[in-house]
Amino acid sequence: MSFSDLGLSDKVLGAIDAAGYKTPTPIQAQAIPHVLARRDVLGIAQTGTGKTAAFVLPMITMLEKGRARARMPRTLILEPTRELAAQVYESFEKYGKNTKLNVALLIGGVSFGDQDTKLVRGVDVLIATPGRLLDHSERGRLLLSGCELLIIDEADRMLDMGFIPDIERIGKLVPFTRQTLFFTATMPPEIQRIADNFLHNPVRVEVSKPATAATTITQLQVATGREDYEKRATLRHLIDSAEDFKNAIIFCNRKLEVAALHKSLVKHGYNAVALHGDLDQTTRTAALDAFRKGEAKLLIASDVAARGLDIPAVSHVFNYDVPHHPDDYVHRIGRTGRAGLTGTAISLVAPFDTKSVAAIEKLMGTTIPWMGEPVAAGEPGERPARQGERGRGGRSRQPRGQRPQESRPREPQQRREQASPRAEAPVPAPVRQRDPQPYRERAPRENVEPDTSHLPAFLLRPVNIKA
Ligand code: AMP
Repeated sequence: MSFSDLGLSDKVLGAIDAAGYKTPTPIQAQAIPHVLARRDVLGIAQTGTGKTAAFVLPMITMLEKGRARARMPRTLILEPTRELAAQVYESFEKYGKNTKLNVALLIGGVSFGDQDTKLVRGVDVLIATPGRLLDHSERGRLLLSGCELLIIDEADRMLDMGFIPDIERIGKLVPFTRQTLFFTATMPPEIQRIADNFLHNPVRVEVSKPATAATTITQLQVATGREDYEKRATLRHLIDSAEDFKNAIIFCNRKLEVAALHKSLVKHGYNAVALHGDLDQTTRTAALDAFRKGEAKLLIASDVAARGLDIPAVSHVFNYDVPHHPDDYVHRIGRTGRAGLTGTAISLVAPFDTKSVAAIEKLMGTTIPWMGEPVAAGEPGERPARQGERGRGGRSRQPRGQRPQESRPREPQQRREQASPRAEAPVPAPVRQRDPQPYRERAPRENVEPDTSHLPAFLLRPVNIKA
């Protein structure tokens, strides 16, 4: 099968040629002819399968005829995150370079006025995150009654992010007679319900998960202690002793953890950037650019922020936290070992993670080998309270007066770690060790953390302040 068999226009075929693509990917080969035949499509595919081009290429072909009217976009693409929306925008620049199309991006964190000016000029393709789109629509600055094609991308991620009510509202603003393309990586019952609601007699196109296709990823799990300072020491050790290290994405389960780990790694002299939902758009874009250009070697990210982003070839993925959903694990490790390159994915496993690992192994149908000794059987499903979390009654889960050494505040602990090598957290023996890596640009130590060794111990103790 070649691209010229799919019914795409000559201008689009020219752009595909310029992009250097030789053959369509399975999702492209299966979906494009149906999209061009104006059928609704239910696409079950993840990023990395070429799914963006599967809808962008036929869209450009269809939009070559006709013109947009002011404030009435002809087509609408909904994306869960700003980064994904920006990425789809870039693919219109790439594949639409021979076609004159007005493409507008409506995402949060960008000036409302500039977006409005674009809408007034008339838009062929509107790419939006749900919240900002509804903002424009509610202000009466946008009419969706002329929209002929609606694309809902990453629907399961929309569900995770709580966007489904917004999507349903938007669905009522576009004409009933439109064509709809609906993409999701997984099909939980709620997504099936929405798909049934949005699609009329759809063609179902499904491609395999990257994790089952990519056999180039070496997966490992490594035992770690349950406390943050122990996990951080384990992670630093893994980074320092990693073989063939070029760059890594480090996944955390929560935004707060992303921010805290980023701060800690930078303090320890690592060249790291962070990506999570609470950062403003400029910071997020700058972080991604720095990582893409290789200026930063470590990207610490949450699942939501990193989902679907096209980040080329990373050598390592570290799961600082084992994900709660096995599907997220598949996505995370799919960030490495792309396009035939080899990659390594290492998960830090604390005693309370054993249940989650079992669920991942069940989904993947494999066992993930241990690097060093397996984790000691602990209290599966339980994890220690973290910063900002409270147990019942608003108190920390640890009874007062019985706090073990490791649950003291993190920073003093870190300082102790640096002051005395004997205080370092136990780190499992890695499979292979080698000298520290040259990529690590350490900041001068005196600028990293103040020396607190002269302080009496009581000054380093946590202080409970009642609200
Ligand atoms: P996506 O799954 O849409 O995020 O695409 C993943 C990557 O595959 C992007 O970097 C695309 O540029 C690339 N890609 C898409 N289609 C093809 C193709 N037919 N041949 C080679 N690369 C492709």
